[in-house]
Amino acid sequence: MNSTGINHYLEAAKRATEWHQNYLKDMKKCRFDTIAVHGVYSMQEALDFNQGSIIEPVYMSTSQCYRDSDEMEAALSYQIPTWCYSRIANPTIYYLEGVLALLESYGADIEASCIATASGMAAIQTAVDPFLLPDPKNLSGKINFVATTQVYGGTFQQFAVRKHQERGIEWRKVVHSDDLNEWESLIDENTRFLYGEMPSNPGQAFFDLKKVIDLAHKYGIPIIVDSTVATPALMRPLALGADIVVQSVTKTLATGGFGISGAVIARKNLTSRVGSPEMKADFCMYAKTLPNRDNGPNLSPMNAIMALNDIRTLRSRVDMQSRSTMTIARYLSTHKHIEQVDYLGLESHPLHKLASEYLWLVDAENDEQYGKKVNRYGHLMSFHVKGGAQATRDVFDGLQRIWRATDLGRIKSVATIPAISTHSQQGEEGRKLAGIPANLIRLCVGAEHPDDIIKDLDQALSVLDGKKIVTTAPEYSAGGASSAKLRR
Ligand SMILES: *Cc1c(COP(=O)(O)O)cnc(C)c1O
Repeated sequence: MNSTGINHYLEAAKRATEWHQNYLKDMKKCRFDTIAVHGVYSMQEALDFNQGSIIEPVYMSTSQCYRDSDEMEAALSYQIPTWCYSRIANPTIYYLEGVLALLESYGADIEASCIATASGMAAIQTAVDPFLLPDPKNLSGKINFVATTQVYGGTFQQFAVRKHQERGIEWRKVVHSDDLNEWESLIDENTRFLYGEMPSNPGQAFFDLKKVIDLAHKYGIPIIVDSTVATPALMRPLALGADIVVQSVTKTLATGGFGISGAVIARKNLTSRVGSPEMKADFCMYAKTLPNRDNGPNLSPMNAIMALNDIRTLRSRVDMQSRSTMTIARYLSTHKHIEQVDYLGLESHPLHKLASEYLWLVDAENDEQYGKKVNRYGHLMSFHVKGGAQATRDVFDGLQRIWRATDLGRIKSVATIPAISTHSQQGEEGRKLAGIPANLIRLCVGAEHPDDIIKDLDQALSVLDGKKIVTTAPEYSAGGASSAKLRR
């Protein structure tokens, strides 16, 4: 082995790492919007490595080549920065991971790292599985975790079926997540982590995160938060002390809707009773170089660049969509065919006060438009239609501008009936736990003008007055005559 050769690369790596750390330090001093726009891609990197390309290049390549065997050896033993193989790492994916780590730790004196995954569900698996390994000192010991029941339907299935049913790992369910005693009563010496989604999709459950963080740390265990609905534009759990955040990047972050993606963002030196020192020191680096290397739930660089591009405008977009959602929620709450509107922004919502302690538009106080802290509540809301399941379907079928789809976070308004879509798998009992009645419509407000969304809701709700909605479809698509179709 030619050790002088390796040393040459190690020294170069040391200089590069220092340079990058200084760059990150400078970037951390910038405002949220600046970080969202530039992230970790610098002009220096563009000039030195990417022909001056002002936009992050997409490295559509499986792997990286090396100058010689010394560099390869140093790289594959993770001694120098490398991406080696796209299942493990990739420069384009790094640009996404870098910006998410900075945004989730924005405004806090903490260091965080990120690992991008192929989906939000893969992010949840990546975040929780390392804590669910058998204890070598107590191999027969029962393992459990404590998590809220008001979670995304896919999360419910992952916890109830994949963990609990298939692997015998007990999911201890927190039904009333605003009751701290309930959380605490479920924790014992075999509890590996606490998990909560807030605001939850679609129920907008909300708990006192700071108190739950304190509780987790009192028992030496981590708290993992699914913060998909809030995004770092409204809430940053790591800055409040949480250990790990998971994001379905698919949703509000990558609003354009080109594809599925997820991310785990973890603070360095997190709290846990299990796991190696390396895992606790840098959870995402650990996940990237070990379990995810071996399991392979990695993201594609193409999806990474599309997510990255949408993230640049996150703050202003979330602000605008939150304001529109508030307008629409107010409109619906006085409508005669609506039984109830659930939106954290409405003062009538039982969790409004609590949510107002947590959901703040980032940097509003540094914005000339506001100049002070302002609450924003995101673009997820739901409403209950009077008249039961069929009336709800009739209204839903009458929507013409709002798209019927099981999606959220889109730049276009989308609506779904959770009982027959996102929460259909878990049965009546599971839906009761998650608080999903059959007359609930989830609406996620896009970036259209709210007047047009209100108009659409108004005409759809008029079916309950006996109005018939007639829609006609063209026989040829607008894009050309090649896709002529017969319509019913
Ligand atoms: C959609 C969603 C997920 C799952 O994300 P995918 O990207 O669809 O795998 C997890 N949590 C929440 C809150 C979600 O809305």
